[in-house]
Amino acid sequence: MGLSLRTWVASILLLTHLVHGALGWGVDGHYAVCKIAQSYFEEKTLVAVKKILPVYANGELAAVCSWPDEIKRRPEWSCTYALHFVNTPDNECNYEYSRGTHNDKCVTGAIFNYTSQLMFQFHYNLTEALMFVSHFMGDIHQPLHEGFVGDQGGNKIKLNWYEQETNLHRVWDNKIIESAQEKYYNSSLSVMIHSLQHKLKYAWSNDVPSWESCPPHKSACPNPYASESIDLACKYAYKNAAPGTTLGDDYFLSRLPIVEKRIAQGGIRLAATLNRIFSPKPSIAAA
Ligand SMILES: [Zn+2]
Repeated sequence: MGLSLRTWVASILLLTHLVHGALGWGVDGHYAVCKIAQSYFEEKTLVAVKKILPVYANGELAAVCSWPDEIKRRPEWSCTYALHFVNTPDNECNYEYSRGTHNDKCVTGAIFNYTSQLMFQFHYNLTEALMFVSHFMGDIHQPLHEGFVGDQGGNKIKLNWYEQETNLHRVWDNKIIESAQEKYYNSSLSVMIHSLQHKLKYAWSNDVPSWESCPPHKSACPNPYASESIDLACKYAYKNAAPGTTLGDDYFLSRLPIVEKRIAQGGIRLAATLNRIFSPKPSIAAA
């Protein structure tokens, strides 16, 4: 009995690994953001989210958080392609909403738009709105989704990650997370997520309230998240990562803490945004 159970667990683990491999590790970053978010949902939020999720998600927001990446190249969804990022002029290390966004078509505009659809709920497809908000909250925290227009957020910077040929954008979408799982987390995404949840409870607990904050009467506050991202892109992502470079331990070990914190912040802020929408706090009555 023990042996057959172990064999069964081993095949499930192998299958999970193969599925992840086939989809790419970008899926993992989004999965982690949404998994962390769901653990911070207030009760009413959890009920509302479960009602809106498609049946196949089985009540797990994380199961559908990569859906916007799966559809963005289909002709009928081509209008969503530009919503995954915001362009920053080359070598500018700051963010201005009006500069990188045309007709609100960028990641910050998309977060404003889909959160207001969830707020007002009329005539909208709430399932799609929820999946878009949850995905874009991940994207906006990936520093190179606010990267320079000239190199397409690092996509045009071809370099090596250890022995592998890749590009800088992919290093931040996938490679750092993938190497971290191999090196520190027993090749397991759930072990990595547990470690981030532990850090949120202890190492980062004093920072969490400031990550969640948003001015009164606002449900979404994506602009500061984009500012943080371009700042981190300049200070860490682009630094020592010229085309043709081989990135190894020095780069990996110094950038991993940034990636981990951004995933955790994305999760906390997604939860805070959905809590503001679905579990609003009664405003303090004027005396
Ligand atoms: Zn995306």
